[in-house]
Amino acid sequence: MTYLFPPVETVGLPVAGTSDLFPVRRVYCVGRNYAAHAREMGFDPDREPPFFFCKPNDPQSIVPVAAGETVSIPFPPQTENYHYEVELVVAIGKGGSNIAVDQATEHIFGYAVGLDMTRRDLQMKMREMGRPWEIGKAFDYSAPVGVLHPASTVGELGSAAIVLDVDRQTRQKSDLSHLIWSIPEIVANLSTLFELQAGDLIFTGTPEGVGAVKPGQTMAASVAGLTPISVQVVQL
Ligand code: MN
Repeated sequence: MTYLFPPVETVGLPVAGTSDLFPVRRVYCVGRNYAAHAREMGFDPDREPPFFFCKPNDPQSIVPVAAGETVSIPFPPQTENYHYEVELVVAIGKGGSNIAVDQATEHIFGYAVGLDMTRRDLQMKMREMGRPWEIGKAFDYSAPVGVLHPASTVGELGSAAIVLDVDRQTRQKSDLSHLIWSIPEIVANLSTLFELQAGDLIFTGTPEGVGAVKPGQTMAASVAGLTPISVQVVQL
């Protein structure tokens, strides 16, 4: 038996300091995980349980960004409010279900900087109608991700500056210590809902300051201790 056409290739994220690629399986995302961002989206951040959504895992969704390069992504169709969201991305190295909070870091391979690009107008419309968020969140080229740094080299990242600039002007600036749900708590909670596997990525939420980008603008996203990413929006 042969495939009718070539199957979709797995996305591989470069691992800092090695020639290895981390093969991506699923892409999970956490909603509203910084209090000030929850407020700017119209919610009271009272430590409700974390909630999750997903992005596709194919090469038309995830955009690996190598160190020192600026990658171009197309301005997506059907939106007039295309937003950046800088996020810490956690990469799972060892799977599991019902992982305990105090065991969670053993399941983490490493960390990267990511952008949860969002068609905010479509997300809001779906939110108001009680419909799924896919068209606002899971569209083509919606998940640029940088080089992965093994936890064995960067540690647990309990506190680190997280910043996003657009054309060298700072728009988002916070610290990972402001996460409502810590990284171990996110891994533990997510693993009660899905059996995690090596290769899974978790976008851990964005701080306040989200806003729109237009074609021609360049986003620089960083988390202290990790390789930053540079992504330019282009009009196709
Ligand atoms: Mn997000």
